[in-house]
Order: sequence, then structure tokens, then C-alpha cells
Amino acid sequence: MATKTLCIKTYGCQMNVYDSARMADVLAPLGYATTDDPADADMVILNTCHIREKAAEKVFSELGRLRQMRAAREARGGGRTILGVAGCVAQAEGEEILARAPFVDLVLGPQTYHRLPEMIARLSRAGTAQLDTDFPVDAKFDHLPAAGARGPAAFLSIQEGCDKFCTFCVVPYTRGAEYSRPVADVLAEARALAAAGTVEVTLLGQNVNAYHGDAPDGTVWGLGRLIRALAEIDGITRIRYTTSHPRDVDDDLIAAHAEVPALMPFLHLPVQSGADRILKAMNRGHDADAYRRIVDRLRTARPDLALSSDFIVGFPGETAAEAQATLDLVDTIGFVQAYSFKYSVRPGTPAATMPGQVPEPEKAARLAALQDRLNAQQVAFNRRSEGLEMDVLFDRLGKHPGQLVGRSPFMQPVHVDAPEGVLGTVRRVVIDQGRPNSLSGRLIDDADDTTHPAQAVGARS
Ligand code: SAM
Ligand code: SF4
Repeated sequence: MATKTLCIKTYGCQMNVYDSARMADVLAPLGYATTDDPADADMVILNTCHIREKAAEKVFSELGRLRQMRAAREARGGGRTILGVAGCVAQAEGEEILARAPFVDLVLGPQTYHRLPEMIARLSRAGTAQLDTDFPVDAKFDHLPAAGARGPAAFLSIQEGCDKFCTFCVVPYTRGAEYSRPVADVLAEARALAAAGTVEVTLLGQNVNAYHGDAPDGTVWGLGRLIRALAEIDGITRIRYTTSHPRDVDDDLIAAHAEVPALMPFLHLPVQSGADRILKAMNRGHDADAYRRIVDRLRTARPDLALSSDFIVGFPGETAAEAQATLDLVDTIGFVQAYSFKYSVRPGTPAATMPGQVPEPEKAARLAALQDRLNAQQVAFNRRSEGLEMDVLFDRLGKHPGQLVGRSPFMQPVHVDAPEGVLGTVRRVVIDQGRPNSLSGRLIDDADDTTHPAQAVGARS
């Protein structure tokens, strides 16, 4: 029975969303039920992200606000709130957090969530702040409890860490070396999710297609093989994976896109830049042409595959011509969605001290030009969806009464007026309107929910 409340504020990537859900799973047996309201919670955890600029400063100002909230609660006689900092800022700046914000009770890195109950027990015995930023990755997954119900579309973490060391990125330092969960554990978690009503799983990893999990038969499975096994699980009808690295797209994964209908025709495949000299300086391990060839092969396997990507503009030394090369790559590939960022210095990474740091106004101009192209492609893609039929998984209520929101096979949010009973199911929808960031449509009553999305929408140009 829940007797206490827990508020987890999650920042950053989907790995953090997944980790927050698992922290809630770990704390449920201790009587913690989740709440969105930090003002009256018995425990507040900030699950932080280190990828953006001034990440640590933002955490310190949020902690300042929480400290005041905690004092106000105590003054109301509401009991003492435990304050925790988790995630990548905790991993990178653990000691600094305890020095600058000594009122924080718990500081834990992404690999030690399973030890939360132990840390809370030590906190209540000793009354002093607890810090745990070890890297025992296998232990984390071994000790997490079985997944609770996580809704029709759920994340499933299969891989952690990164060995790629892109010169701009902090992830290899905050999340540690690449680690793949054993096949049996991943399949067991997927079966538990399916039994609890999950229809769609998104496999997560910082570098998810580097997956190489030990299988019960003593072999090592890559991501393609794992996807095939997941597709066999009763109830799992949609599979996605993110985030992928172009270097780790292998033949079997490409074949899976052709052969596994449950594998959705949408792929987030970050390229970062279209200029070979910059890709080399970033230590990406591929050039622009290699990226184009991978995309060609994926599209041959799955002609309606929709692509998304990450881009960085203004990497040190980037010239105007190199920024143009990125625009050219966007034109030739065609993306339906993308994340684009101005390069920003991450202390401790090789790019931070590279010569030729690009002035801020120039970065801003390059970002604006890139986002113009990317937005135009996204809008055009959504417009082309008008009049098409697609399978939509409805996973949440819309803003307006009677409205539900789901996801198309291509990750577009789809708004439909429908009864609540439709939540958690995949339904055929005809798209009436494609807007810049979403679609709206109508349910088709006599739906055949098993139609392959590729057959439903046909090839896209
Ligand atoms: N593993 C993924 C990959 O290989 O691209 C991405 C992981 S990272 C968490 C997400 C994105 O943040 C990156 O793809 C990159 O575009 C962006 N990013 C990382 N470090 C950055 C930096 N120093 N400046 C600007 N953007 C950055
Ligand atoms: Fe960061 Fe590169 Fe690893 Fe992605 S592949 S997490 S960008 S180091």
C-alpha cells in the first residue's frame, strides 16, 4: 500500500524517461506512489541531463527552488522531503553537488538506481547525505524489480554507455563503456510489458544498434536478431529502437527492416554534419557518402522508411561551405523530423579546446538556415499524409474532451475524436489534415488492424 509520495522530474533523453520509471519501480515496494507535484512530495528526485550547456547551473537553480519548497512544506507540518539528484549531472558533478548544495540528501549516477532503497536506509540511519556514482552496470539491471505496467507504448532499455567518443560529446564520460543486457533479460522484460498491456516497445540505448547481448545458447545476438525474437512475443505488434549510430547499422539489421512487419518504418539515425572534414574532426567514423549509402540500403529494404536525425552546426573550424554541405545532405536525404543544435562546449571533451570556435551569431545563422530546410521537409511530409490510411496506436487523452492522441507508424502524433475505450489499441485512421507538428483524422470503423503500414500508405518519395 502506498503511504508516501515520490516526484521525479526528468530531463533529457528517453534513457532518462526509462530510468525514472525504473526508479519508481524500485521505490514502489517502499510505499512510494508517484505524483507530479513536488510541493507536497515525500521525495523529489531530479533525473538530470548533462548534454546541454549550463546543465549543472540549471540543476543548482532548480535545487534552490526545491529547498524553499521543502522549507514551506515543513512549516506547514507536512514532514521533511528527501531531495535527490540522479542522472548524468549527478555522475559528472557528484562531489560538487554535495559541496555546493549540502541540503541535498541523495546523489546517484545512472548505474546505481537499484541501490536507492539502501541509500535511503543509510540516510535515515546516519542522517548524512549519500553519494553513489559507481559504474556497476550489470548489477543495475540484475537488481531492478520486474517492470510495472508502463502503458501501451513503453521504453525498454537494452544497452547503455558508449565507446565511440565523438569529440563533442560527454556521454562516454557520464554513462561509461558500452554494455548490452543479456538477451534473456530483455525478452523477459518485454514479455512482462506485453502481459501488462504494452503493444509497442521502443528499445533504448545511447548507441542501441551496437547491441551485442549474450544469448542463452552461448551465442551473441545483434540488434536485428533481438528484434526478430521480440516480434514473436504475443501482444508486441510494434517495435522501434533509438538512438542508432550509422557505423553500427549491419546487414542483419537492414534485413530486419525488410522482413519484420512489427519493426516500424521510422528511424532516428544521427548524422551530425554533411561535411567530411567535420565528420572526421567529430570522430564519427563515417563520411557523408557512407551515410547516404546506408540510407539507400535501408530504403531498399523498407521503401517507406521515414528518417529523423541529429545535427550540430558551428562545430570548431566549420566553414560556410561545410555548413552548406550539411544543407545539401538534408536536401538529398530528406528527413521527416530532426533535432538540430548549435555546437556548445563541453568541458573535458576534445572539441572544447579545438581551434576555430565559431562565433555565436554565425552559429545562430547556420542553425536558422538548417532548421528552415528541416521544418519545410517535416511540413511537406505531414501534408503528404493527407488522405492516407494508417495504423495508429492510441496512447493518451487529447487536450479537448473526446479527443485521443496516438502515433502513426512514422512517429507523427495523430489527433482523433474517439471513445476512451480506443486507448491502448491500434486502429485504422484516415488522415484529414497534416499540420506542421501533427496530423488529425478519423477512425475507420471496419478496420483491419493487421495491415502492414507499408501497404497502407505505399512508398514515399
Ligand atoms: N548517440 C547518439 C549519436 O550517436 O548521435 C546521440 C546522443 S546525444 C545524447 C544527442 C545529441 O546531442 C547528439 O546527437 C548531438 O547532436 C547533440 N550533442 C551532443 N553533444 C553536443 C554538443 N557538445 N553541442 C551540441 N550538440 C551536442
Ligand atoms: Fe555521444 Fe557519439 Fe556516443 Fe552518440 S555515439 S553518445 S554522440 S559519443
